[in-house]
Amino acid sequence: MLNDFNEMRDVLQSANLRITMNRLEVLNILRKADKELTVLDILYTNEIANKKLSSSAVYQVLKHFEQMGIVSKFKINGEQALYCLKQENKNLRIYCQHCGHIEHFHDDVEFELKRLMQERSAVSLKLVLQKSRCTQCI
Ligand SMILES: [Zn+2]
Repeated sequence: MLNDFNEMRDVLQSANLRITMNRLEVLNILRKADKELTVLDILYTNEIANKKLSSSAVYQVLKHFEQMGIVSKFKINGEQALYCLKQENKNLRIYCQHCGHIEHFHDDVEFELKRLMQERSAVSLKLVLQKSRCTQCI
């Protein structure tokens, strides 16, 4: 538990963010999640110790995290935004339109995309491929 705390403190400090209970709480939920989460997912997780955490507080924390490059945010077809911790080589996703399952994948094409990004001075890469059904829902 102490190691967890130290790790989270390091993440916040290296992003120049002050350590607050709300930030620790949201960060803890995101790092334990095995999928992207919506704000509602975060609010209604059982992990949450601070029952007073409001949705606006969570939005605020996520906004700062996104600005500082800790989380990546993306939306599919106008649904609620999804958040996850930013990870190297995890920018490519396949989204199942039937059950909403999201699979991350890694492919050489990502290197090519990153090269293109540099060439065109692009700052972020969010690529979501969509399919009508996946192995989870068949
Ligand atoms: Zn599916």
